[in-house]
Parts: sequence; C-alpha cells; structure tokens
Amino acid sequence: MDDRSYFETLDGEDPLADRVSRFELPDGLIYLDGNSLGPPPIGVAATVEQTLAREWGQDLIAAWNHHGWWTLARRTGDRIAPLLGVAPGCVIAGDTTTVALYRTAMSALTLRPDRRLILTDTGNFPTDLYALESAADHTGHAVVAVSPEDVIDRVGADVALVALTHVDYRTGRRHDMSAVNRRAMEEGAVTLWDLSHSAGAMELDLTGADFAVGCGYKYLNGGPGAPAYTYVLPGHLDHVVSAISGWWGHADPFAMEPEFVPASGVERMQVGTQPILSLVSLFAALDVFDGVEPSSLRRKSVLLTSSFIQLCRTMVPEVDVVGPSDPAERGSHVALRHPDAGAIMPALRSKGVIGDRRPPDLIRFGFSPIFQRHTDVWDAVVTLRRVLDSGSGGPVDVEGPVT
Ligand SMILES: *Cc1c(COP(=O)(O)O)cnc(C)c1O
Repeated sequence: MDDRSYFETLDGEDPLADRVSRFELPDGLIYLDGNSLGPPPIGVAATVEQTLAREWGQDLIAAWNHHGWWTLARRTGDRIAPLLGVAPGCVIAGDTTTVALYRTAMSALTLRPDRRLILTDTGNFPTDLYALESAADHTGHAVVAVSPEDVIDRVGADVALVALTHVDYRTGRRHDMSAVNRRAMEEGAVTLWDLSHSAGAMELDLTGADFAVGCGYKYLNGGPGAPAYTYVLPGHLDHVVSAISGWWGHADPFAMEPEFVPASGVERMQVGTQPILSLVSLFAALDVFDGVEPSSLRRKSVLLTSSFIQLCRTMVPEVDVVGPSDPAERGSHVALRHPDAGAIMPALRSKGVIGDRRPPDLIRFGFSPIFQRHTDVWDAVVTLRRVLDSGSGGPVDVEGPVT
C-alpha cells in the first residue's frame, strides 16, 4: 500500500470499473465530496435538455401522460427501492429530505397516539433535529436527544417514534440499524431512518423499520436539489396518511372531488406537483446503479475508507482520524481533525482535492463507490502530506451549503 501502483492495481481489478467510467469529472480533479453533492453521470445533462426542449417544448401539457411525468415519482422510487433492499411499490420520490422527514414523522406519530416522546440522538443532522422539533411542537410531543451510544437503552414504552440518521454526517459513525429496530419493536415504538449518507454506498436491511427517508443528490447523484425519497413499510400503506393531504396523494386526482381519499399505494405520501426536471435528472442518474448489488458498493466503500485511514495514519500522523476504526461501525466518509482545518481544505482544493469542512476543526472526505477510483485515495493523502509540509495558514475557508 506504500506506492501508487498498489492502488492502480485495485482500480484494474475493480468490479465497478464500468460504472466509474460512466462519470466524467474535470481533468485532474480528485472529488471526495460525492457524499455532499454527487457528480453527474454521463448522459444525464442530455436527458434533461431533451425533456426541456422536446417533451416540455414540443408536447407541452400532453407530456404529463405522453412522457410519464405523472408517474415519474413512483417510478423513481421503484428504482431506489433495490438500493434500500426493499421491494418496489413502497418508495416514492419527492420533496426535500427535511420536508419528507417532517411529514413522515407526523404520519408515524399518528400510529402511537398514547405516547409522547420522539427519541433521536445529539449527533443527528441539524435539519433533522429542527424538523423533529417542529413535528413535536405541532402535535404536543417532546423530542429527547441522547448520545448515539445511549439510544438503544433509552428506547422504552414512553417512546412513540425513534428517528435517527443511520450514518453520522460528521464522523461517519453508523448505527446498528437492526439492533435499534429490534429494540423498538420490543418496546412498541415506531422507527424512522434518514438514509441520506447510506443509500447508494452500502447494502441496507430495513427489516423492522417502519419508515425511511433520504437524499437524492448525495450518493444517488441526482443533481443539485434533487428530490428526496420516502419509504413506508408496506403493511402501513393501507392506514398511514401523509401529514399534508394533497391532490397528488388522492386516489383519483382528476376526479377533483372536494373530499380527500388517499391513494392505495405509496402515492398517498405525495402532496403536490413534483419538480419534473429534477426528477428526470435523478431518474436518469439512477441508470448507473442498474444491476449493481448494494453489497458490492459496500465492499468497495470499506476498501476505500480503510485504505484512506491506514494511509493517513502512516503518512500524515499529525492529523487525527475521527470516527470508528471498525469498518462495521463506519459509513462511507472519513473525517480528520486538525487545528488548521480551516486553512488545509482550501489548500487541498487549490491542488484539486475536493473534500469539505465541518467547523471548527474537521475536514471530511467522502468515498462514493460508484464513481471513485482507488487511486483517488493515494492522490488525496499524498496531496495532504504536501499541503502540511508547505505549512498551512492560507485563507480561511468560506463556503456554501455542504451536507
Ligand atoms: C443532506 C441531508 C439532509 C438534507 O436535507 P434537505 O432538506 O435536502 O436540504 C437532511 N438530513 C441529512 C441527514 C442529510 O445528510
């Protein structure tokens, strides 16, 4: 592992190499931020342009039926389902992750009307915490946030909903989803998982999970602001309704009935008209996952993160590796701690290595197995060594949204 050829060999043997070649990143760029904004697979831009020019431009309103826009959210959900390890028919794309989480939490709470607590953890992504607080405020519940290690012990008969993000966006720590689900079932609590930092990078086992949501623009590469997705346990689809009844969730939207009757399938979780251009982009981007076993994504992801951690320990020992050293407890990104984090990341970026920063002192590198090269690992650590040798102290990092 102590020279580049080792990583070149891994690339040569990569079972996902044909997928890697379906992305065209700018020359010389080492992109380790696909967990924040995935890059576009080749062909997605052309598909979106065609939707604009031909479907919208030529067919106008007829395009809703002619080009399947009306069913696109459901068809997109059906393509995401295998990445979640669930059957088609119980996943629907739409809305943002925050909105999907709020709406789904509100639906979930109706299943346990006699309980008053929403349990989450303090490491959860802030927008998830805000949305859960909103759901609690609007229903008279209370949010209890404990440390991630304490979640399982805190699940009890007073908990209506356990709402967690599977992989911590900062440290990469991964919850034992099956253990949490088992415990929740024993105590009669409903579960809601945020899979934003999971789906597309690992296999998932949603056995015992009631609901899940996740992000379309990270590992799924759907494009900036791509719709999120919502999973509902099939057994709930005949009684759970969305917190907002809208015509897209109606059993017969074009009957224009004054009374709301929910659709029989997962379409009942929809509210209003979806952003078709963004859905088209996400749908097209999902092509690269066709025929890919999530377990092969996970195998490669573990190889990438493990070799990155090992190289960091030997080549940049002055930087601390944050998060679990056991790959079983890790997602697909790695955070490093250094007091000069704010100067190191801009220096890395100026040398073509794109990761991101989590103030005050973390830099974060995402490894998206569908497009990453193993040589990216080597090149990133070698560049980090150079940056540290040249002395950091560059400009303070100012950046836009990075999640
Ligand atoms: C990326 C991410 C989000 C993003 O939410 P949006 O509503 O799409 O802005 C939410 N939760 C988690 C855990 C995320 O990683």
